[in-house]
Amino acid sequence: MLAADWSRIGEEVQRAKDDGADWIHLDVMDGHFVENISFGPQYVEAVRGCTDMHLDVHLMITHPDKYLVEFVKAGADRITVHVEAEHDIADTLKKIREAGCGCGLALNPATDFADVEPYLDQIDLLLVMTVVPGFGGQFFMEKETMPKVAAGKAWREEHGLNYHIEVDGGIDLNTVEIAAAHGANVMVAGTSLFRAEGMAGSIQKMRG
Ligand code: ZN
Repeated sequence: MLAADWSRIGEEVQRAKDDGADWIHLDVMDGHFVENISFGPQYVEAVRGCTDMHLDVHLMITHPDKYLVEFVKAGADRITVHVEAEHDIADTLKKIREAGCGCGLALNPATDFADVEPYLDQIDLLLVMTVVPGFGGQFFMEKETMPKVAAGKAWREEHGLNYHIEVDGGIDLNTVEIAAAHGANVMVAGTSLFRAEGMAGSIQKMRG
């Protein structure tokens, strides 16, 4: 939603649905964990009010544990928190699950895969950031991030787990193929869909 036209949220969400998107991804930024500020639970609630689609809420905030309840109330279907944020990670993940939400863990390009390993049996989505988070429209960091997507896939197989592997940042018709080849199955695309000539055609090509 970061790349959508915010003056027409309802129409933009409907356009994404009609054109074949599966989920709506919402990037929450606090101006502290990342430099940019985006939106809070009120915006998530506004999106919830205009769709029954799956709301995939990505919290790029320093204290995700403090705001979980508000995002659950706002209508999030899944909440993803960062391993680099300041919180008791296992406890936050447990609280998300107890609230009945899907539960994701994210890691930045500079973070080692080993940092998420202790939590992989507690999540249903691993989010590998493919850009340094904060702004839309950045370039995909293949060398730094694709080994982590592959590691996530290998770990899942070795340990009999079944989490999604999501990539976020710089995803377009070219990079989607690279990410899929390494094992990602959930692609977050903003600029390359909302600013495309035709969203439906782009989504169809990405699926391919
Ligand atoms: Zn995101």
